[in-house]
Amino acid sequence: MKTTVQTLTKEKQLCRILEESGKLIIAGPCSAESQEQVIDTAKALAADGRVHYLRAGIWKPRTSPGMFEGAGTAGFQWLNQAKTITGLPIATEVGSEKHVYEALKHGVDLLWIGARTVSNPFTVQEIAEAIRGVDIPVMVKNPLSPEIALWEGAINRFRRSGIEQVGAIHRGFSQQEKSTLRNFPNWSVAQELRRRMPEIPVICDPSHITGNQNLVPMVAQRAMDLGFNGLMVEVHPNPTMALSDASQQLKPKQFAEMLDILLQEKIDQSPNDLLTELRMEIDILDEQLLNALANRMDLVKQVAMVKKRHNLDVLQNNRYQSILKNVARIAGEKGLNPNFIKKLFLGIHKESCNFQQQQIAENV
Ligand code: PEP
Ligand code: MN
Repeated sequence: MKTTVQTLTKEKQLCRILEESGKLIIAGPCSAESQEQVIDTAKALAADGRVHYLRAGIWKPRTSPGMFEGAGTAGFQWLNQAKTITGLPIATEVGSEKHVYEALKHGVDLLWIGARTVSNPFTVQEIAEAIRGVDIPVMVKNPLSPEIALWEGAINRFRRSGIEQVGAIHRGFSQQEKSTLRNFPNWSVAQELRRRMPEIPVICDPSHITGNQNLVPMVAQRAMDLGFNGLMVEVHPNPTMALSDASQQLKPKQFAEMLDILLQEKIDQSPNDLLTELRMEIDILDEQLLNALANRMDLVKQVAMVKKRHNLDVLQNNRYQSILKNVARIAGEKGLNPNFIKKLFLGIHKESCNFQQQQIAENV
């Protein structure tokens, strides 16, 4: 499969990889943990022959303090040994100007910007300034929130700093409630970025989308079906012992088996596989609908208390009419059938009135 990257010149690395291999494949452990772990992973990936960059986090942006925060600059020695032994170029995440200088000093071949960093334009600007004048590929992950302008803005900060090889990584978006996937893929946001910036290669990170090694192949397959330009996958020789993201890393063998299927010449995907992928996303959306309904009911309970305290009627016709008008308008904007939405909200409103009556009766 050939991909054309319009604004990058032929001799540029990313462009060359995409032209020669069709897909850009970045793989390696979440974090560089030890010399042995980095070199073992690199050897397995190099032997596979389909990986273009060895990834490993040197500094890890952890959610809570006290967790493993990366090996720090000591890890560069392991990455460079791995590079010398296997010939694989190396990639790491940078989250500050200081990280950029350290990574460049230690011969890193590709930099990526993590989701948390992309959410902060000050830091993105600082990093872009630090890379200015260096011809190195920079991959920009999506921000934590599905805010396309923030993602696009970060990519543009690098381009305005004269960095020619810029790509994007779709790693899903944070969700308020726990669900089957660690981060919600929200494919339409990534698809919109691809539409707005057709010259930017966009790859998918199924490891951070799923948070679960069993689901990684399914999400990776979906990315391939949608025509993404490649993958960034977490691979660890012994995932259960990993110091970060243990549940989502593949063993080298599992990774190779996944690539065998993903990269084979496209034979028609079985309808069952496709249905399974789509249904997994539907299940997550259903869970989100139910979460929203539960949150709505919590508010209804508070409304019931106010009505009781002030002796107000449960059914207030103005409010009821305004809900129906409002949802009819939104349904129209979203192309949903207005009759169906009306019926749905009649049901929700009825349930909410019954619930309020019950609450008021219980609290007399
Ligand atoms: C990572 O790639 O290990 C990482 C921390 O990713 P993200 O920024 O997507 O959470
Ligand atoms: Mn990780």
